[in-house]
Amino acid sequence: MTVPKKQRCPICGKSETPAQKPFCSQGCRDRDLLQWLGDGYRIPGPPADPNAPHPGLDSTHDPD
Ligand SMILES: [Zn+2]
Repeated sequence: MTVPKKQRCPICGKSETPAQKPFCSQGCRDRDLLQWLGDGYRIPGPPADPNAPHPGLDSTHDPD
């Protein structure tokens, strides 16, 4: 067997498009990304506070 196994789009199961590997289209690529982001928000653990001060980055930024 020298023929490479054709990947299938993990989103919809269609044959992958080389330019969009391993997905079949940009749409499925986006859906996969959104799923990852969605799962990421639901991961239990310490919440990342976007308003938390960044140590080391405040030296050039005076608060008020
Ligand atoms: Zn697809």
